[in-house]
Amino acid sequence: MKQNPRQQAILELSATQPLTNQFNTKQSSTEVFGQNVFSEEVMQLRLPKDVFAAFKRALDAGKTIETRIADVVATAMKDWALEKGATHFTHLFFPMTGGSAEKHDSFIVPTRGGKAIEQFSGKELIKGESDASSFPSGGIRATFEARGYTAWDPTSPAFIMEGPNGSTLVIPTCFLSYTGVALDKKTPLLKSQEALSKQAGRVLQLFGQPVERVITTVGAEQEYFLIDRKYYFLRPDLVMTGRTLFGSGSEKNQQLEDQYFGSIRERVLAFMQEVEHRAMQVGIPVKTRHNEVAPAQFEIAPIYELSNVASDHNVILMELLRTTALKYGFACLLHEKPFAGVNGSGKHNNWSMATLSGKNLLDPGSNPSDNAMFLLFLAAILRAVDRWAKVLRVTVATAGNDHRLGANEAPPAIISAYLGDELLAVVDSVVKGTPLPGKTGGTMAVGVTAIPAIPLDNSDRNRTSPFAFTGNKFEFRAVGSAQNVAGPNIALNTAVAESLDVMTTAIEKEMAKGRSRNTAVNTVIKRVLTEHYRIIFNGNGYSAAWVREAKKRGLPNLRETPEALDKFIDPDVIELFTTYGVFTIQEVHARHEILVEQYVKMVSIEAGTTAALARTMILPAATEYLGMLAATVTSTRAALGATAAASTRAAAAGIARELAALTRAIDALEKALAAAHRSADSEVIAVRIRDRVKPAMAAVRTHADILENLVGDDYWPLPKYREMLFMY
Ligand code: ADP
Ligand code: MG
Repeated sequence: MKQNPRQQAILELSATQPLTNQFNTKQSSTEVFGQNVFSEEVMQLRLPKDVFAAFKRALDAGKTIETRIADVVATAMKDWALEKGATHFTHLFFPMTGGSAEKHDSFIVPTRGGKAIEQFSGKELIKGESDASSFPSGGIRATFEARGYTAWDPTSPAFIMEGPNGSTLVIPTCFLSYTGVALDKKTPLLKSQEALSKQAGRVLQLFGQPVERVITTVGAEQEYFLIDRKYYFLRPDLVMTGRTLFGSGSEKNQQLEDQYFGSIRERVLAFMQEVEHRAMQVGIPVKTRHNEVAPAQFEIAPIYELSNVASDHNVILMELLRTTALKYGFACLLHEKPFAGVNGSGKHNNWSMATLSGKNLLDPGSNPSDNAMFLLFLAAILRAVDRWAKVLRVTVATAGNDHRLGANEAPPAIISAYLGDELLAVVDSVVKGTPLPGKTGGTMAVGVTAIPAIPLDNSDRNRTSPFAFTGNKFEFRAVGSAQNVAGPNIALNTAVAESLDVMTTAIEKEMAKGRSRNTAVNTVIKRVLTEHYRIIFNGNGYSAAWVREAKKRGLPNLRETPEALDKFIDPDVIELFTTYGVFTIQEVHARHEILVEQYVKMVSIEAGTTAALARTMILPAATEYLGMLAATVTSTRAALGATAAASTRAAAAGIARELAALTRAIDALEKALAAAHRSADSEVIAVRIRDRVKPAMAAVRTHADILENLVGDDYWPLPKYREMLFMY
């Protein structure tokens, strides 16, 4: 039997011993957690009392840290980092393209005597210079400065990242142009948190609550695939694009549902344990691990945190997953749809609002008098999701996520909100005056009646909803697995801030007319819930009936990225972001441009890779197999006669037909790709890519996948689905 590299890989794989946990497992989780974090506790121990107090005051008030304070913090941070073995520091930032970026500098400063000392000043802590000219700026830098700078985000704690030969002090930062234009995802996230805090504060005030900062909390559940890295390196499509562009699927995929919550293989568990250990060290509160629905698919979920910290931590976690996987002989696939025919990966963005002192504002509570405030927040969120559905949709629009949203997979591209039966009954009672089920019997009186107990979701009762209330938080499920959650949370925070503003202003107006607070609150809640009732949908989000029903309700169905991104620059959307100080007009346009370009680049790379692999790997393999069949036909006929050679001859003819069809499809794809790019306008290119290039890619794949099932297994160059998904 002739052996191609793929078969060699499989043989080698079967001899591989999985790595086991390599570090001191005797340490308890509480010892490990945060051991590499420059936490408030560490600061309190190491900073002079007055400095720590000043730092904490500024932090809680959301104010900038004075240079005098920063200098002292920097020195303490450096001493701590050196004790921990750090040789370098880096400002970590989150560019608009997603992912993270870092540049390391050593602490070393040479002295006259030919020696060196270690230095780190407040200035270096607060501000870093970054020659980041190759980060796309969406035209911002063409008109401004070429260089950007990074600015310390003191709300996201610095930490030590251990490397193979030394450690690095990592400082989470914002990334801005010299004129102060945001070039990243963190800056607008912080601004959206401010906007929300301000408007939610007005609500607290309205209800006579102590006025505190309101924070948004996020818990991001991360899904991913693991495959053996030997397969990964034999699949240029995975290496280039993160997903398989070919593969006829395997006979068994997820139909037996035997993977979900199944026992975790030891090799995978060892990998997970190292990821978790490293995550805990840097203060990421990872909590849950389990097998997901698709074969070779898994999930890791942390406990929720302040949203900008959760967002930083999620990006760091994705990096840990990727790098640790390689050590264990795996490749971690974070793409939204690495394999056709089995579930893709998402990131459930659990979101809530809380006061700084920890009161969850989306907890319905058991006190009747609390219900008015809860219902006001609920109404504001439903209004935000309805009024700004298109904005939420924009933030999850990527080439990868198009394979989930709008395809027959969770959740749909139509944004709606799921409340569950208990809460829907409450809303119905307010809107329609229907009696509340259960022992209360009566209707919902805002400010008077207790809200019936709402079970905390423990089973994802409706997985088909893109935006679900799960007991004391909402879960935005349309986020793609590879995305930075900053984008979706910027939109959520800003949309809810606007809703709270509109509602509070309306309530104040009613009160100015002489109405009591309760009457005013009641009136406005009832009006808003009635107006935005259409956004509530508790049914099956995958069904065709819902698509028709949503259309009737007037809900947008933005199926793919190009039409979704268009909405980002709608005048009302720009007004939303500028009014609340989250983006400037220029910043919106820059982001829009970058997102469109990313879509174009991503799908173009996929199209180019599809054509190249089909031509250079699949055609040759099928041709070689055809040649072997043809020779067999000749020799069989000579030895045994035409009848004996008939079936081989028929098989060969079938392959020859598919080969011809594949060749035509590759030609058509290359033409479509070239034609799509004959424009200077990236929006025009994006639409052509969606309408012509993607179907042409699909045609190539169809013929290639047919050939996969016709050509002898020994001849096939690409690892197959059954191998990647089941053999590890
Ligand atoms: P499930 O969704 O599987 O029922 P949980 O509800 O316990 O599981 O939690 C899912 C995620 O939601 C976790 O990351 C959890 O920390 C997060 N979460 C829980 N409460 C909140 C909250 N108030 N704000 C944001 N995220 C939350
Ligand atoms: Mg969940």
